[in-house]
Amino acid sequence: MSKNIVIIGAGFAGMWSALSAARLAFLHNSTDITVTVIAPQAALCIRPRLYESNPAALASPLLPLFAATGVTFVAGSVSHIDSDAHQVTYSDENGLENTLSFDKLILASGSRLNRDAVAGAEAFAFDIDQAEAAAHFDRHLHSLATQPQSAARNTFVVCGGGLTGIELATELPARARAVLGAEAEIRVMVVERASAPGGQFSHEMQQTIAEASRELGVEWRLNSSVEEVRADGVLLTNGEFIASHSVVLTAGVSASPLAAQINGERDARGRLHVDDNLKVIGQDDIYATGDVARAVCDDEGRFALMTCQHAIPLGKFAGNNAAAALLGVTPLPYRQPGYVTCVDLGEWGAVFTETWEQKVKAVRSEAKAIKISITHDLIVAPAAERETAFRQADPLAPFV
Ligand SMILES: Cc1cc2nc3c(=O)[nH]c(=O)nc-3n(C[C@H](O)[C@H](O)[C@H](O)COP(=O)(O)OP(=O)(O)OC[C@H]3O[C@@H](n4cnc5c(N)ncnc54)[C@H](O)[C@@H]3O)c2cc1C
Repeated sequence: MSKNIVIIGAGFAGMWSALSAARLAFLHNSTDITVTVIAPQAALCIRPRLYESNPAALASPLLPLFAATGVTFVAGSVSHIDSDAHQVTYSDENGLENTLSFDKLILASGSRLNRDAVAGAEAFAFDIDQAEAAAHFDRHLHSLATQPQSAARNTFVVCGGGLTGIELATELPARARAVLGAEAEIRVMVVERASAPGGQFSHEMQQTIAEASRELGVEWRLNSSVEEVRADGVLLTNGEFIASHSVVLTAGVSASPLAAQINGERDARGRLHVDDNLKVIGQDDIYATGDVARAVCDDEGRFALMTCQHAIPLGKFAGNNAAAALLGVTPLPYRQPGYVTCVDLGEWGAVFTETWEQKVKAVRSEAKAIKISITHDLIVAPAAERETAFRQADPLAPFV
């Protein structure tokens, strides 16, 4: 009888889980393993590029790839996971409730910004966490050209100076000038709790981020937090009010709420603890991968981060290991000791680092070329061709 691997999510981890599971079944000439991906859309959203202009164009279709590799796609949004009954409930495209049964489940539903963590954010802040939100902000940015000139119209406040906040803030001067004119007096401000720009990164990186910010005119409000986002701006905890029509929230990401439906230990960001094979600890048939997994990634005991860099290999290992369990072959323990960082810094360029100590290896245009090769080539979906897709889906194929 056919065995079903069901994968929730068609992001980096979900897509690669599906390809990797299908690959292993194919290599073992197995015709009785069905691999099914369920997600609202059959498209890979390149979330790491959502700070750019025209984010609506950043999704690549997955149906041809799934057809070429024998993966079934179901359009739907999962609302309930029943671990005991081995069943997921989802709403289909017409809003109708349906169920899918699984022998092995891979949870790859990613992460999302906690908009309700900051007062007023739900009503008044923009964000760029998901494709629709980034497109909404892009439309707002373009609509500013029709508003009368004012300081609030020309001021952009980015709440949170992590990776996403830095990339958006350093890109915004050019994006805003493209809409409001080269002579417009644009102000971009980053509100950040840390005491230095890029405070979560290495000292070397911080210096680079500070230099780029200075050159681009990006201002930092350090040691600062947001008290409340309002219709006309943002109030900081120190009492300062910044008038702005464009407050963008970038801090505070948690694992998909579906993770909380699975019985298992979770970390502070809601990620499920998994073993070396990416199986949820305490569950026999459920794997977690990508942003929903808290996985050890090297022999030093470091944990994978909520990054695309980790989600891609995590997906390949999870899919391989779910299929291996059904085929009765030895799973591959997940390991990813290498780590790089590449942060876009707008018109200044970018910064590229290697190792967990984040040693700066390239800056400005040299690093920008690396960034573009990562976001335009390395992380995109493979060609819709079985041999190529399966070669790249091998968990042991070189990545980063
Ligand atoms: C602006 C921005 C910049 C970033 N920059 C970088 C960077 O430079 N480098 C880097 O490595 N990482 C970066 N990241 C992080 C990276 O994008 C994520 O870590 C990565 O997307 C995680 O992959 P994933 O497959 O786990 O989740 P996702 O890519 O989020 O995919 C989740 C999938 O699950 C689906 N889904 C969610 N809920 C349900 C449900 N209920 N039912 C069915 N399907 C569901 C979604 O539709 C989607 O298909 C950035 C993220 C953002 C937002």
